[in-house]
Amino acid sequence: RPARADGPAPTPGKVLRTVFGYDSFRGDQAEIIDTVVSGGDALVLMPTGGGKSLCYQVPALVRPGTGVVISPLIALMQDQVDALAAAGVRADFLNSTQDVAARRRVERELLDGELDLLYLAPERLRVPDTLELLGRADLALFAIDEAHCVSQWGHDFRPDYLQLSVLHERWPDVPRIALTATATETTHAEIAQRLQLTEARHFVASFDRPNIQYRIVPKDNPRAQLLDLLRTEHPGDAGIVYCLSRASVEQTAQHLVDNGIPALPYHAGLDSRVRAANQARFLREDGLVMVATIAFGMGIDKPDVRFVAHLDLPKSVEGYYQETGRAGRDGLPSTAWLAYGLQDVVQQRRMIDTSEGDAAHRRRLGAHLDAMLALCETVECRRVQLLAYFGQASTACGNCDTCLTPPESWDGTVPAQKLLSTVVRLERERGQRYGAGHLVDILLGKATPRVTQLGHASLSTFGLGTDLSDTEWRGVVRQLLAQGLLGVDSDGYGTLRLTPASAEVLTGARPVRLRREAPRTARAARSSRR
Ligand code: ADP
Ligand code: ZN
Repeated sequence: RPARADGPAPTPGKVLRTVFGYDSFRGDQAEIIDTVVSGGDALVLMPTGGGKSLCYQVPALVRPGTGVVISPLIALMQDQVDALAAAGVRADFLNSTQDVAARRRVERELLDGELDLLYLAPERLRVPDTLELLGRADLALFAIDEAHCVSQWGHDFRPDYLQLSVLHERWPDVPRIALTATATETTHAEIAQRLQLTEARHFVASFDRPNIQYRIVPKDNPRAQLLDLLRTEHPGDAGIVYCLSRASVEQTAQHLVDNGIPALPYHAGLDSRVRAANQARFLREDGLVMVATIAFGMGIDKPDVRFVAHLDLPKSVEGYYQETGRAGRDGLPSTAWLAYGLQDVVQQRRMIDTSEGDAAHRRRLGAHLDAMLALCETVECRRVQLLAYFGQASTACGNCDTCLTPPESWDGTVPAQKLLSTVVRLERERGQRYGAGHLVDILLGKATPRVTQLGHASLSTFGLGTDLSDTEWRGVVRQLLAQGLLGVDSDGYGTLRLTPASAEVLTGARPVRLRREAPRTARAARSSRR
């Protein structure tokens, strides 16, 4: 590593070449590094894989003293430190997993000026000793990684991040660099405000990941659909499959293994040693599929993840973007595939209705879900819509499902009225409410035992919807739910009810546009990509 203690400080370019072995900086890296090296603050918004780490690692090596990196990713600290050590960088960490002896050793290294980088879990700052320790050290900079964790609007909020403003108060002269891959305007503003980054230069990279092909398909038989995707498009590839529940993680991983695809489960309910072992295998071996809850993935640096598949709807566009962003960090073509259905909407609306927290919190969750649903139901380019969510304008990409096979939209006003008036009749005339399956049976005129027993064959809408198939009707229900034209009870049965907007549809004041769900095969998307 370049001499620093005695000789002149190495230049950033020299550190890049001699320590990290790269020829040139990417994107805004050089400017960001110059800002911090010269003592300024920076707020860096860069997508996953953009190269955020060098933005604080290089200045930490150029400036005298130790660079302190605040990171919530305790599980990755050892790996990060090992990787840096391999490049000859003196790095270590302090977090709650260490015993006292290990902590003492790191503290001594810090005070003796033997560390270039110190990774620090945010909860350490709650301990007064830590502030006192930092006060006695020579500090090069503070890097606040995953800075969106300070945002209560965001999806990864960590209360400990709120105290990070103490860094500026105690060390006003030490430059700070905050980094995140999440960048809605709201989160962005909240990071700057809560971390008191008033003087910071903002660096906002494009959030486009052109090598990722975005596809969102109607959920039909998700495990079979997944298997088809892996077999036809990603045989032998490494990838991540996200599921909402631990049970479905286990079952899906088993299903893949039963079908000859090497897969491992990962969720918070597994023993921590099993989790660590599965993560290590995924990183080191080729062609493994990790089936996981969203507990997996933050900070994982595996360049050749060829696909990210979601079997359940993510709770927010930020979450979707971050999770899909783990695909294709090497820049090669990759797939972001999501299967989404009626049950997802029903389930998530219920989870929001029954969630803890105040009304404002539930409204926030509702707004996140609505934005995610809008992305699923759009007939426009997915990428344009995704980037617009992050405040970035773009033109149709030609590399997403809606660009490759433009969906038609159709006038769904009449079917919507038929469905809604069935809901109204049952509720007004009989004081009863039902889920989608039973309503669709009525519209299709199916004399099921339940329909017969309840006397619903005598309803005026019975058999009025035979122009659509069962699947099409479920698509109508899902889209009405997504558009807020139909509501769902929080009773756990998926019971449908009217919303204030339903009345406008029933009176004919509001036309309903729906997306046509031509059963697109994966093959069609593939052939048009070539
Ligand atoms: P992020 O933290 O933004 O997700 P990383 O810092 O992990 O991204 O960088 C992603 C990958 O790009 C890493 O493998 C890193 O070594 C590589 N990388 C970053 N900057 C450069 C550069 N200037 N030249 C070549 N490779 C780079
Ligand atoms: Zn597109």
